[in-house]
Amino acid sequence: MKFIGAHVSASGGVENAPVNANTIGATAFAMFTKNQRQWASLPLDKMSIELFKKRCLEYGYRASNILPHDSYLINLGNPDAEALHKSRKAFIDELKRCEQLGLDRLNFHPGSHLGKISEEESMRLIGESINIALKETSSVIAVIENTSGQGSNLGFKFEHLKYIIDLVYDKARVGVCIDTCHTFTAGYDIQSKSGFEKTFNDFERIVSFKYLKGMHLNDTKKGLGSRVDRHENLGEGLLGIDPFRWIMTDPRFDGIPLILETPDETKWSREIQLLGSF
Ligand SMILES: [Zn+2]
Ligand SMILES: [Zn+2]
Repeated sequence: MKFIGAHVSASGGVENAPVNANTIGATAFAMFTKNQRQWASLPLDKMSIELFKKRCLEYGYRASNILPHDSYLINLGNPDAEALHKSRKAFIDELKRCEQLGLDRLNFHPGSHLGKISEEESMRLIGESINIALKETSSVIAVIENTSGQGSNLGFKFEHLKYIIDLVYDKARVGVCIDTCHTFTAGYDIQSKSGFEKTFNDFERIVSFKYLKGMHLNDTKKGLGSRVDRHENLGEGLLGIDPFRWIMTDPRFDGIPLILETPDETKWSREIQLLGSF
């Protein structure tokens, strides 16, 4: 079974996210549990937490249908010791917020070497960051997203995801999220049927589908291997609609949140309907 939704707004409180998801006919959703552009945030209040849980139950969202995303400020591979410490602290707080909300996974971008250290050195910091954060918490899965490889961002090769997973002690609490726009712009040709097959066979061989805890379904404004991250609405970019049809009819993508991060949110309910019709 497929669970389809979008990254909905939690403005006014996390308890509004399930309402916003239900309004667009989503069976899955993503959200921020705090302001994603600020380091500091008030703790979640008890009322918000209870209401969030009550509404998820009411609308039929289980933890496995929800893929919260962490703050864009966090860089778990930051070469600067002080900045790294700040990121680790914020990441632990994000995981704890998920636990308070009864959620079981947190999606994050692996990190950036900022041109100051090697890819491997930065990835070792990322692995260490995840280990520290998992020790401070008890249940949430750290879900590493693949990236376009813009700037000095890591995670644009399946080998990067594998390298980081190998560093994590508790394999039951690490996973990955594959973003279709990022995959294509990082250089994996999922636009052709043969390229799609090869990409996901490579993914199985290098990373393994057992780690796949979510997908971001986005078309792209930028080309294959451009290393530029610009999302587009489904069927309106360079991927076209076919790769999304292949995903929806492939059982390897069953049971995980499939999340739209497409730019025009007025199209989300139609995109969800379209995906569900395949
Ligand atoms: Zn994404
Ligand atoms: Zn993106």
